[in-house]
Parts: sequence; C-alpha cells; structure tokens
Amino acid sequence: HEQTGRAVERTRRGFFGRLGALFERPDFDDTLWDELEEILIGADTGLETASTVLDRVRQRVKKEGVKQSARVRELLREELIAILREPGETPPAWARGDVAPPLVILVVGVNGAGKTTTIAKMAHAFKRDGATVILGAADTFRAAATDQLKVWGERVGVRVVAHQPGADPGAVAFDTLAAAESSKADIVIIDTAGRLHTKSNLMEELKKVDRVIKRKDPSAPHETLLVLDATTGQNGLLQARTFTGAVGVTGIVLAKLDGTAKGGIAFAIAHELGLPVRFIGTGERMDDLAPFDPVEFVDSLLA
Ligand code: GDP
Repeated sequence: HEQTGRAVERTRRGFFGRLGALFERPDFDDTLWDELEEILIGADTGLETASTVLDRVRQRVKKEGVKQSARVRELLREELIAILREPGETPPAWARGDVAPPLVILVVGVNGAGKTTTIAKMAHAFKRDGATVILGAADTFRAAATDQLKVWGERVGVRVVAHQPGADPGAVAFDTLAAAESSKADIVIIDTAGRLHTKSNLMEELKKVDRVIKRKDPSAPHETLLVLDATTGQNGLLQARTFTGAVGVTGIVLAKLDGTAKGGIAFAIAHELGLPVRFIGTGERMDDLAPFDPVEFVDSLLA
C-alpha cells in the first residue's frame, strides 16, 4: 500500500490533491463538474474516460438528490474504482494456480518503456515467492538488450537464455521453453524487441515468437504483458493499440508511475483498452514493483 502511495504521489499532488479544496465546502453547485473534469483530464484520464466517470457520478447525484459534497466525493471514489474494475477481475495466471508449469509470460513494449527492468523486477518477485524463473532474451535486434538482461539475471540470480545478436527471436523463445522444461522451472519470462521505426516488421516478429511459444505449449503464453511508460500519458494508449492489434495482450504493466503526474492514464487503460493493469513500476530498483489494486490506487489518489 505504501508503495502505491509513493508511486502516485506526483499525480495526487498535481491533480487529485485539488479535490480536497473542492470538497471542503459542505455543499456544491454546477461548477463542480467542470472543475472535476479539468482535474481528471489534467491527470491524463482522457476526455472519454473523464466524461464517463462524471456522467455516472452526476446521474447518481441526481437520483439520490445529493446535496452534500462529501457524498459526491464518495460517489466519485466508487465510480473511479468501478472504471478500474471494468476489464473484469480475473486474477493473473501466476495467481490462479491452474497452469501446469512452466508458466510462460511474454513481455512486449517499445524500447525505453521499462521492459527489461520490469522483467527483472518480476523475476525477483517470483523468486522471492519461491519460484524458479528463467528469462529469454528474445530482443536479438539490440545486442545491448541481451547484455542488459544478462546483467539483471545475474543481479536477481536467475538464468538467462540468449543467442547471438541477430539470431531468430523465435529460436530464443523455443530454447528458453525447452530449458525451462528440462530444468523443471516454474516460470518463463520472455523479453522481446521494441524498435518502433520498423513497426510492421516488429509486429510480425512478435507474432512469430507468439506462434513458436504456442507450438511448444498451446496454452501458452499464459500472460502477454504490455509495458507502458506512464510518463508518456495518452500517447501510450496509441502505442498500446498497435500491440494489442498484433498479439493478444492480457495485461498492462504501468512502468515509471513514480515519475509522472499523469497517473490518471490507468483509468483510460481500463476503460478504453479494456485491459487490467497487473503491476505498477514504482522506481528503478529491483523491489520497485507493486501489484495493481484498484481500491488501493484510488484511495491513494484521493488521500
Ligand atoms: P526497455 O528499453 O523497455 O527495456 O527499458 P528499460 O528497462 O531499459 O528502462 C528504461 C529506463 O527506465 C531505465 O533507466 C530504467 O531504470 C527506467 N525505469 C524502468 N522502470 C521504471 C520505474 O518504474 N520507475 C522509474 N523511475 N524508472 C524506471
């Protein structure tokens, strides 16, 4: 909880903090709605998501004949939580316990979003929970990406399967799964390329990696996580659509949430992409990853 609180500190101070003043007066008038909209859009929820939330709140205010601003605040809290719950509350594959190991997680996203760091953080968290983890360095396009993953692998203490630069990413994925099978590892996490300048090639490459994984295990990947850089706000949504169109993304990791006042993007992800946020990045260190919890998130913003 403390981690979420710290991660949304900028968003809270920058935008949601202003709610305090709005709700300080016991009653309210119609200007409240414009001010609320401004606050939500400022935090990068996007116009569509902000309107949806506020329409729902306003309807309930009308229906209940609400006069007290404290009640409006409660309704706003409920509707913000409801938006985050829209994608449904199916737990992630690693929390369900219905997957025969190895559980395969494919990780996609543009370069710089925080993919490699996120993979290291996840590996660290799973390992801490007692799982054996193997990483696959399937971004063979950038030699630096493989090197970086190896460095993290050493730091975290997990094995990294890698090939030469320029090798077939599908082959890396295949070998990583094979290594996981023979060593009876619990979890496989596969890093992928994220170069945007050759977008169509990249999407074909990701589809191929996905196919290779499915050929080995038709039920895999059990999760395909898209890492988004929270500091890019609404631009991240556009990027996300490119990826969700190519591979079946099952969830989002919102990296660098600690570095932005635009944390409202989490609401747009839920409402416009219909995808659950699985984790939030709360800093640059191994431990700076927190599971995403809608109630905790909203309560930290409104604190
Ligand atoms: P990749 O190219 O997508 O693999 O991105 P990296 O994992 O190399 O991360 C890019 C930069 O973002 C690095 O400097 C990371 O330390 C930093 N970074 C990643 N996640 C977070 C986070 O949650 N918070 C902060 N503050 N920085 C992060």
